[in-house]
Amino acid sequence: MSDDTIRVLVVDDERPIREAYRELLSAPPTAKLTEAELLRARLFDRESRKPTAATDFEVHTAESAEGGVNAVRAKLESGESFDVVFLDMRMPPGPDGAWAASAIRAMDPNVDIVIVTAYSDADPGEISARIPPAEKLFYLHKPFHAHEVRQLAVALGRKARAEARMRRLAYFDPLTGLANRELVREHMSKALALAKRHGRRLAVLFIDLDNFKRINDTLGHSVGDEILKATAQRLRDVVREGDTVTYMASQLARMGGDEFLLLLPEIAETKDAAIVARRIMRAHGTPLQAGRHELFITPSIGIAVYPDDGEDIETLLRNADLAMYFAKRTGRSTFQHYDASMNATALKHLTMENQLRGAIDRGEFSLHYQPQTDLKTGRICGMEALLRWSNAELGDVPPLEFIPVAEESGLINAIGDWVLHAACAQASAWLHAGLPLERMAVNVSAVQLGQPDFVDRVAHACQQSGLDPSVLELELTESALIANLDRARETLDRIKALKVQIAIDDFGVGYSNMNHLKELSVDRLKMDRSFISGIAKHERDRAVSSAIISIAQGMKLRVTAEGVEDCEQFDVLISQHCDEIQGYYIARPMAAAEAEAYLRTLVRARRAAG
Ligand code: C2E
Ligand code: MG
Ligand code: MG
Repeated sequence: MSDDTIRVLVVDDERPIREAYRELLSAPPTAKLTEAELLRARLFDRESRKPTAATDFEVHTAESAEGGVNAVRAKLESGESFDVVFLDMRMPPGPDGAWAASAIRAMDPNVDIVIVTAYSDADPGEISARIPPAEKLFYLHKPFHAHEVRQLAVALGRKARAEARMRRLAYFDPLTGLANRELVREHMSKALALAKRHGRRLAVLFIDLDNFKRINDTLGHSVGDEILKATAQRLRDVVREGDTVTYMASQLARMGGDEFLLLLPEIAETKDAAIVARRIMRAHGTPLQAGRHELFITPSIGIAVYPDDGEDIETLLRNADLAMYFAKRTGRSTFQHYDASMNATALKHLTMENQLRGAIDRGEFSLHYQPQTDLKTGRICGMEALLRWSNAELGDVPPLEFIPVAEESGLINAIGDWVLHAACAQASAWLHAGLPLERMAVNVSAVQLGQPDFVDRVAHACQQSGLDPSVLELELTESALIANLDRARETLDRIKALKVQIAIDDFGVGYSNMNHLKELSVDRLKMDRSFISGIAKHERDRAVSSAIISIAQGMKLRVTAEGVEDCEQFDVLISQHCDEIQGYYIARPMAAAEAEAYLRTLVRARRAAG
């Protein structure tokens, strides 16, 4: 059926009349018009021949008001709608055409309704008032001429088609061809009404790309556009390949920016939404080619389900969005179901963000320092600077709580600068005081790394503090590097050119792609704490840490084991020839004064040892 087909419903209790409509609307006009009619058309109504000639109709009929209402509902449920409905006013003994008109209008605000009346049986003014909008309600008076029906159907049908085209323009995203925000809301409102009526569930998946803004800012908008188009295609493929009912009448939309929405109007259970979310994650498991860049683009997905997580569009959208934010906070590239506690947490995050804004000026940040020990010499070879935040309203907030908030709000850039300057100044001061410090390690967030002038900022911190750049080490996470490998490579090379060292932090928990790693100028791997906690007890964990150590050393990288808490773990790492360790077993992170005292005792101990 072509897009220009006009869909007509005829509701009339008299069979010959229904058949007359059908005949009229299904054959080409010239075949059915008598010569007198043709003459009349030529004389009085030149337009009538043109439009009718090439028009296709799809005609449905019903013999009662209820039948008509049911036909409209079935059509809508199938994802289509009628363009024109002809309603006989009087269909005794059942309800009349005006009743059907108002029921139909309640379901479909766009359909044109033609009420077919004898002059005596209806008061058009009164009906129009009951069934707005007036411009979509028409009257045809009995007895009518066959020709009038066809003309009216053509005129209204064409108008409906034109409106449909306008809606296409107004309702679709030109870049990806997906439905836009307005359209998906319309679909949602219909789907919700049906879900309510049939006691069904409906899921909203809010999909947001990770790190998109950074990629867009650094690689340019045309690369950004390519990514959005490719993502739309990936999502379409996921929906198309879906086999079951879950995908029936599903609706994909681009909500704006890098936000997409998938509406699943018919899910049997909440877990069906998770299955779809997993499919989406899987579809993003391979790198995307955008221009000359090969990029790993991962989504974070939030899921809200009607009726558990909201009963109206606003609530469902808000909660799916909120769940998406939580997915991002739990490390991105994952999905989360909405749960009621998220609202409280979101409020807390908002408070945190507000408090973070003035925190530098109020002097609420400080650095703690944790020693790193060389296992061959037994000496302290470095300190890691760890940020601490103490706020009047929130108390002491752990970095794992406030750093994601700072990253999201962009505040991390200013905070990260503060950390760099403070750590460099401290290292420089300790070195001037003659204390032994080979290295000062500073954690750098992916967001900071994405700043175009990041390397300049690092250079500036070294200059201002007078610190030899080779003493500084930046700790980066794998995911920050892998997200945009080309750019990471370039940035790391520029950092290396400054003589600043680079460590991969939390190694092993992310992508751990050795292939990518070997292309990057990295000096050290910090094996994540999760690998260390079990090494004293489990053979399997020992095998993993041993493998990481030997691969790293094969690649000429040094390895620091993080989170070493006891003597047993320490012994295992010694036996595996790990280079360095850091952890409570050696020392906890200490405030500056305490760390300084710690370094002084080391100096005294060394002197005493001769
Ligand atoms: P990280 O860089 O992996 O830092 C090591 C974390 O492990 C620190 O937590 C440290 O206190 C803790 N830790 C050290 N030894 C042990 C141990 O033996 N056992 C256990 N259970 N934990 C140990 P902290 O200070 O809470 O920092 C958490 C994370 O916050 C850091 O993980 C880092 O990713 C981030 N972070 C801290 N400071 C900064 C900063 O200045 N900038 C950025 N971007 N991130 C930071
Ligand atoms: Mg670290
Ligand atoms: Mg770490």
